[in-house]
Amino acid sequence: MATLTDKKYPKRVRNELRFRELTVLRVERISEAFQRIVLGGEALEGFTSPGFDDHTKLFFPEPGSHFAPPTVTDEGIVWAEGVRPASRDYTPLFDAQRNELAYDFFIHEGGVASQWAMKAKAGDKLTIGGPRGSLVVPEDYAWQLYVADESGMPALLRRFKALLALPSRPQVKAIVTVADASYQDYLADCGFEIDWVIGHSEEAVAAKLKAVAVPEEDYFLWLTGEGTVVKSLLDNCISDAIDPQLVRSQAYWHQK
Ligand SMILES: Cc1cc2nc3c(=O)[nH]c(=O)nc-3n(C[C@H](O)[C@H](O)[C@H](O)COP(=O)(O)OP(=O)(O)OC[C@H]3O[C@@H](n4cnc5c(N)ncnc54)[C@H](O)[C@@H]3O)c2cc1C
Repeated sequence: MATLTDKKYPKRVRNELRFRELTVLRVERISEAFQRIVLGGEALEGFTSPGFDDHTKLFFPEPGSHFAPPTVTDEGIVWAEGVRPASRDYTPLFDAQRNELAYDFFIHEGGVASQWAMKAKAGDKLTIGGPRGSLVVPEDYAWQLYVADESGMPALLRRFKALLALPSRPQVKAIVTVADASYQDYLADCGFEIDWVIGHSEEAVAAKLKAVAVPEEDYFLWLTGEGTVVKSLLDNCISDAIDPQLVRSQAYWHQK
């Protein structure tokens, strides 16, 4: 019988907070709905991102204005005078060997981040902050469930890459909801089978989730997407018998 201390729980770690002004190296339209922006520069030195669903803050100053990255002191973060630019959270996809940091932007209507990604070109600057903290989720849970929409697909890609490198593959159930069937191409080579919901039906995702049988032990559940959808899925589809410490749920965006 497993005791509490035997259980593998995700662990929170703190990272050194740094703000970095990076340079766009390449812009790649990697799929129907995703624009990849690859960044580099000396400021990448020391970058680490131990959690697959880490987030970094990306800052988007008004076009034509320059944003001086804040400095981190013992007393806290010191911002330059003036208006702070809009910021959004994005999943860092770091290639340590090439010393390059990529972001995969889901392109959608409106939105400062999505628009920036569409206009970005080599040589542009982008300031990022973090990841400040990471949740390090063990990779070897025997059974793992992932529920996401487009916003969580970069984190999923990162996770699946890590899982594929394990000596033995865990059992993975992935339910991914997308606005259009053409968006599936982003995960085409991810190495795991996806149970797709096309057209963003919350009811369809809920029905799939309710039909999933979570094993009694050695499991991990990850739910992300639009805020009210994630909350409703968590409240209505996840049994009380499931250990909350083995469930990671997070709003990745909010319908406005
Ligand atoms: C931890 C974390 C990691 C994330 N990683 C990524 C990532 O790697 N790639 C990525 O694309 N997104 C990611 N997101 C989601 C991203 O931060 C939000 O989608 C963000 O709101 C996009 O900013 P924007 O300026 O383009 O749009 P906003 O200005 O925030 O919103 C403009 C309009 O678009 C709507 N909107 C915003 N996001 C979406 C969406 N995803 N789908 C449909 N409509 C939307 C809003 O409701 C609003 O009406 C992540 C979020 C979190 C919390």
